[in-house]
Amino acid sequence: MKPLSELTRPNIWALKPYSCARDEFKGMKADVFLDANENPHSAPINRYPDPLQEELKQMISPLKGVPEQNIFLGNGSDEAIDLPFRIFCRPGVDNVVAIDPTYGMYEVCADVNDVEYRKVPLDEKTYDMDPDKLLAAADENTKIIFICSPNNPTGNAFAPEKIIKVVTEFQGIVIVDEAYSEFSSQKPMRQLIAEYPNLIVLNTFSKAWGAAAIRLGMAFANEEIIGLFNKVKYPYNVNKLTQEKAKDILSDVTLLQRHINLILEEREHLMKSVAMLPCCKSIYPTDANFFLAKMSDATSIYQYLIQKGIVVRNRNKVNLCGNCLRITIGTKDENTKLLAALRQYHD
Ligand SMILES: *Cc1c(COP(=O)(O)O)cnc(C)c1O
Repeated sequence: MKPLSELTRPNIWALKPYSCARDEFKGMKADVFLDANENPHSAPINRYPDPLQEELKQMISPLKGVPEQNIFLGNGSDEAIDLPFRIFCRPGVDNVVAIDPTYGMYEVCADVNDVEYRKVPLDEKTYDMDPDKLLAAADENTKIIFICSPNNPTGNAFAPEKIIKVVTEFQGIVIVDEAYSEFSSQKPMRQLIAEYPNLIVLNTFSKAWGAAAIRLGMAFANEEIIGLFNKVKYPYNVNKLTQEKAKDILSDVTLLQRHINLILEEREHLMKSVAMLPCCKSIYPTDANFFLAKMSDATSIYQYLIQKGIVVRNRNKVNLCGNCLRITIGTKDENTKLLAALRQYHD
């Protein structure tokens, strides 16, 4: 890996972050707060929230096996995806490399930040990735390589050895998005951040944790990278309602496990049933809470399902996903409705 000072945009490396009122008194005790121009009359939401979400990180740390100082929390993974562009990529000069197809936000963030986005196709039959092809697509201006595993929309997770090959051989930052790792039998990679200073691993509360509405995403990385995230983020990027709700959710981890088990059971049943339908050509193996199904005519089936009030994701126009629908695992009742509708469909 190149030195972080060389990978980081010079303006960001030199940046003096905004210092909020609470930062300046930090560590001392007080009970009269006249420092932040808040309104004293509307407790408990009148005070600015903890900018570094320390209580929340204390709860997340043992659960994820990652020290607090290696955790960044953001307004969804979206924030943790966007910040690295703003930290590392000089607009109009630098580029990033990603597998294709993958999660659409990486390309949107690249476009917003005026950063060239280089796509490296997955294997067209297995959707596996080739680390050598990813590495070959990088040049001296490549700052980040994105690997989503389990990958959206294909559903498969990549062998850890392949990901580690990219991490060890690439000179820049590697972001491994593990939004769906709770549904995978593969070991998550977040604890490897201690070994690899250029590795950033993303997690989210939006999928297995069942809290997409509160907008809370996580990034795990070495302390220096987390320091850069904290320097560039909005001071109060995670609001108090979200912090409080997340603490509630984290206080019952057994519920998470029950939900994951339910989804995994339903996944097996739904995939088997969809595979047997005449309108389904094949289904792809998955490590996530969704799967990709190749249909006889994805667009007409998609439209048909909409008429029945059922929405799946049409991935027909996505590279290597011709005639594919991406189906999220719902409740037993929802999955039964989907199957009933698909059984009535005739090409
Ligand atoms: C759904 C998803 C996320 C979650 O994004 P949030 O902003 O945390 O809701 C992140 N990465 C991938 C690949 C996803 O599919």
